[in-house]
Amino acid sequence: MKPSVLIVEDEEALVTLLRYNLEKESFHVVSAADGEEALVLAKEETPDLILLDWMLPLMSGIELCRRLRRSPGLAKVPIIMLTAKGEEADKVRGLESGADDYVTKPFSPAELIARMRAVMRRTHPAINAEQLAFVDLVMDLAAHRVRRGSRDVHLGPTEFRLLRHLMQHPGRVFSREQLLDSVWGRDIYVEPRTVDVHIRRLRKALNNDHEIDLIRTVRSAGYALDRP
Ligand code: CA
Repeated sequence: MKPSVLIVEDEEALVTLLRYNLEKESFHVVSAADGEEALVLAKEETPDLILLDWMLPLMSGIELCRRLRRSPGLAKVPIIMLTAKGEEADKVRGLESGADDYVTKPFSPAELIARMRAVMRRTHPAINAEQLAFVDLVMDLAAHRVRRGSRDVHLGPTEFRLLRHLMQHPGRVFSREQLLDSVWGRDIYVEPRTVDVHIRRLRKALNNDHEIDLIRTVRSAGYALDRP
C-alpha cells in the first residue's frame, strides 16, 4: 500500500520535482501552496507524513506545524521541515514547534526520501512492519495470513487490504472516500457504498458470536479499528 505524503510548499518548481521523485518511489502525493490549504488537505487526507516548507505565504511553516500538532487527528503525523535557513537557532525553533526532522535546502531528492523513510520507521513502525497486531488480531504480511486468537481468519483480497490499512492506523477514523483511495486506489471508480459491503464481510469473518467487534462505525464519518 502506498504511503501518502502532503507537500506544503509555495515554490512550484520544487513541488513538481518532489512530486516526480516521490511518485517514482511509490508515494501517494498531495500538495498545498499555503498553510490554510494545507490544514484543509491534511484533515481530508490524514497523510502518513508531511513535508513542510518554513517560508510560506499567509501562515509560516512554524505556525502551521504548531496548528497541526494541536489538531486531534493530525497530532502524530510525522513532519519534516524544509528550509533554506541553516541557522542552528531556526533548527531548534523548528523542532520545538513539533517537527520530527529538518532538511536544509538545497537537498537531493534521494537524501530527502531517505530521511522520510527514517522518520516513518521511527514514528510509524506499522508502515514497514512484517507483522501487524491489534488486540487479539495478528496479520502476517509476508505469509498473507490473519489470525484472531488461536483461529485462522480467511479473508478475500479486498478485505485483507482493508484490514491491513486499518491495522496500520489503529484508532484513526477513515471516511469511505479515504478508504477507497487507500485500499482500492484513486484511479478505480467504486461507489462509496461498496466500502460498507466489504466492511460487513470483514466483520463477519473476524467476529465469531462470542467475539467483540473491533471495527467501530462512526456515524456519518466512517470506520476505525478501535479497542472496545
Ligand atoms: Ca517557500
